[in-house]
Amino acid sequence: MNTIWASRSRVNDDLTTVGGLADFLGLPADEADLAAFRALRQALRDLAGVLTGDTRAVAQERDLHRAVTEVNLAAKRAREWPRLVVENDGKLVRHNESEGAPATQALASIAAEAVELFTGESSVLLRACYAPGCVLYFVKDHPRREWCSPVCGNRVRAARHYRRNRAGE
Ligand SMILES: [Zn+2]
Repeated sequence: MNTIWASRSRVNDDLTTVGGLADFLGLPADEADLAAFRALRQALRDLAGVLTGDTRAVAQERDLHRAVTEVNLAAKRAREWPRLVVENDGKLVRHNESEGAPATQALASIAAEAVELFTGESSVLLRACYAPGCVLYFVKDHPRREWCSPVCGNRVRAARHYRRNRAGE
């Protein structure tokens, strides 16, 4: 979800090219993967927008049912199963096996993690970041956490400071 992010003057998107996706994943990717990842990202942002009651302009065109369908499609793109392996010293260990190309496996596992996020204990802690210009979501993992990152916190404090100083002029 955080592959769309705001810098000082504009919103940046890390997933506009196949190369951008490959960099993000650290895996080979193609045009079909790019389309699938962009669709999944939109679905996850739509779901986060619904869950957090996001009032930011960037989050207004959300569609809950389309988003749920998209996540479910992505989650079943690659099947995963555990495999029991005997190591040289006789110890039994678990390996995770899955089918599909590496990028497809990554897509499916992000979708599966999203199902956990949106249905698990942390779903009530999901927040939209209302720092000026920010488009991100974050998990409020500390009672006093208000922003997605220290950078956003600093930006808000700087803006308040600026307004206070202007008011005092
Ligand atoms: Zn932020």
